[in-house]
Amino acid sequence: MANTEHSCSPAKLRELRGNLHIHTNRSDGTLSPSEIASLANRCKLDFIGINDHFAVCGPSYYEKGILILQGTELNKDHSHCLAYNCSLAPKPKQEDGAVVAEQVINSGGIGIIAHPFETGSPLVSGGRCYPWLNWETADYQGIEIWNQTSQWRDSARSYWRSLRQWLFRRYRPFAQGACPKALAIWDKVCRQRHVTGVAGSDLHAPIIKVWGIKFKLLQYPMLLAAVNTYCLAEVTGDGKRDGAEIIAALRQGRCWIAYDRLSLGRGFSYTAEAGENWAGMGGTVSRTRGKAWLRIKLPRPGEICLIHNGNPVIREKGQTRDLSVGAAGVYRVEARLKGIPWIYSNPIYIN
Ligand SMILES: [Zn+2]
Ligand SMILES: [Zn+2]
Repeated sequence: MANTEHSCSPAKLRELRGNLHIHTNRSDGTLSPSEIASLANRCKLDFIGINDHFAVCGPSYYEKGILILQGTELNKDHSHCLAYNCSLAPKPKQEDGAVVAEQVINSGGIGIIAHPFETGSPLVSGGRCYPWLNWETADYQGIEIWNQTSQWRDSARSYWRSLRQWLFRRYRPFAQGACPKALAIWDKVCRQRHVTGVAGSDLHAPIIKVWGIKFKLLQYPMLLAAVNTYCLAEVTGDGKRDGAEIIAALRQGRCWIAYDRLSLGRGFSYTAEAGENWAGMGGTVSRTRGKAWLRIKLPRPGEICLIHNGNPVIREKGQTRDLSVGAAGVYRVEARLKGIPWIYSNPIYIN
């Protein structure tokens, strides 16, 4: 495995709760970054990631107590790539996803595949969708295993069903959890190299007209509070520096995803130890005498599932679980609450 072992002490790292992949009125969103920061503050978030289409990445800054990462979203017709910290001057055109991901990485940025398997809805833009097409050569560093807007839109198959869902069971699509196809490809790629799994809201807050009635769908407060990405990073209050720390955490996989609407993911912990070695999410531990210890702690009691190389190996109820593992490979954790998918950790690699 190519990962470097984490040497940073867990005590130095702070847990930061953020919402990635947000569009503002600088592209096709409906609120300004400042207005979104106010809403994020009310949702008790620590950071947001703005990814306006073909924007130039800018330095991170604090506003309304929220750290704002100024990223971009590249590509038009398919293979959308979120990027942070890259020095590209993006052109509004379609390119092969692998080419875009390479350009992002070569310019010093982090490239994250957005909504890779979205299927679209016959009710929205004639079923138009923007999946990722080239999986073979792309050298991306992250993947959205959960995209809130895609998930909601993909579930809208008829006007009547969607209206009923919107009025009475608005959060129902999120109870399906992360995208199964994205999880499968993530598990496969992580056996070769580390790729970080994140959640994206893809917030636009569109206003849709049905039978002459205007509906404000998937508004900012709803998606800012539903599914979030948590990072472990060392922050100081300096926007530029703290943004770089969060991007480093995203790059290394020091993060997890939680369906916060169900129950907050704050306090989740997943680490590995073997002799003197220690690693958190995204890190690697080499076994000592053929064994390593995994330590899992949920914010509250739920159902813990440990996944080894893409296959569930333990599924049991509880809040904490320490266990020794003897086999090398990729280990990640999923947790459920009352049967509903809740938390997805990033993997730890055991050599
Ligand atoms: Zn997109
Ligand atoms: Zn987007």
